[in-house]
Amino acid sequence: MKTQPKKLSLTARIIIGMILGIMTGFVIREFLADITFVHDYIVDGLFEVGGSIFIASLKMLVVPLVFVSLVCGTSTLSDISTLGRLGGKTLAFYLTTTAIAITLALTMGTIVQPGAGADLGAATAFEAKEAPTLGQVIIGMFPTNPINSMAQGNTLQIIVFAILFGIAISAAGKAGERIASVFNDLNEVIMKLVALLMHIAPFGVFFLMAKLFTTLGLDAIESLMSYFAVVSGTLVLHALLTYGLMLKLFTGLSPLTFFKKMEDAIMFAFSTASSNATIPVTMETATKRLGVSNKVASFTVPLGATINMDGTAIMQGVATAFIAQAFNVDLTMGDYLAVIMTATLASVGTAGVPGVGLIMLAMVLNQVGLPVEGIAMIMGVDRLLDMIRTAVNITGDSVVTCIVGKSEKEMDIARFNDPRAGEKDEEVHLHKA
Ligand code: ASP
Repeated sequence: MKTQPKKLSLTARIIIGMILGIMTGFVIREFLADITFVHDYIVDGLFEVGGSIFIASLKMLVVPLVFVSLVCGTSTLSDISTLGRLGGKTLAFYLTTTAIAITLALTMGTIVQPGAGADLGAATAFEAKEAPTLGQVIIGMFPTNPINSMAQGNTLQIIVFAILFGIAISAAGKAGERIASVFNDLNEVIMKLVALLMHIAPFGVFFLMAKLFTTLGLDAIESLMSYFAVVSGTLVLHALLTYGLMLKLFTGLSPLTFFKKMEDAIMFAFSTASSNATIPVTMETATKRLGVSNKVASFTVPLGATINMDGTAIMQGVATAFIAQAFNVDLTMGDYLAVIMTATLASVGTAGVPGVGLIMLAMVLNQVGLPVEGIAMIMGVDRLLDMIRTAVNITGDSVVTCIVGKSEKEMDIARFNDPRAGEKDEEVHLHKA
């Protein structure tokens, strides 16, 4: 029997792409930055074009995927009370994990005191944007024109429309069945598109990392070392401890298997710094690898990518403590509670795109009367933290997806435990079978 040479797994290829990208970026920044050709044609040419195409193709899939899979999911719901229960549970878990995240962050920020003696001279002007109120967020969930919501990629509005559409399908008898079968076929096709995209991911990730690291100023990290360390440490702690414990406690499943299976999604989130752009990969991971049914995952994943931002809340918690210490402001117990409340709500209102968490921080600071200019102090290291916190954000979405899936008996445990599950679905044959 002829043995085929062992192919590297997709995950391994993405990791290689990422590491090579980071190294290439560094080398260019350190040694080749002055060469016009390298700058114009490699960094601003090849890397920029390659990276932008990769991000664009991920985003291209988000709207059709969210809409189609959620319509499929809700059209199979037998009764509306299931939907209410599912929604209630998901929201409760999302809000609780975020509140835990921010509490952990404030605790760490207060114990380590990263802002004590910080240099305020670094603060330059920061233009705070107006953060939306909770009322605006809720009103904004309801579309007036679903095509417009899709054109603008407004995930919450798409979710609301898809749920209503799915419910109507399940209530529409024979006609509903025909439409549902079209949507199920469409869903299969879109998932294949996701698989196709995963195959170019190693290159996409390479381009993104290479471009970013030619420009990323790491000097800022030195002066903000303790802030950076507290945020990243708390992010890792929350991911491993809170999520690990919650998964074990509520599902009895192995956190180790969970994290192993999250690899690809975590890397996508890290390199794109966008929960939203990562939705296709998180969905694929949740359904094909973790074994949660589409019925649950199609609801929890896009919703989580839009409203559940534990990593962002952690950054905001530590940042608040840091800025308070740097400006010598003492926060009272009431202030801490206000921060927990506002940061949890801010997390709901934060869109899953790069850098928004920092803008929403203004809302949290305002709440406790801290100077918004403080944001300028931490801006320098935010991009790297954004990457790490986005990875935590989507890990949180996936943990809750597993918990809700298991409790609704919508999870294939054998699939979760099978280390190779999902690999077959990733194969794409472009020739006729
Ligand atoms: N980039 C984050 C996300 O997409 C949001 C943020 O914290 O800025 O999840």
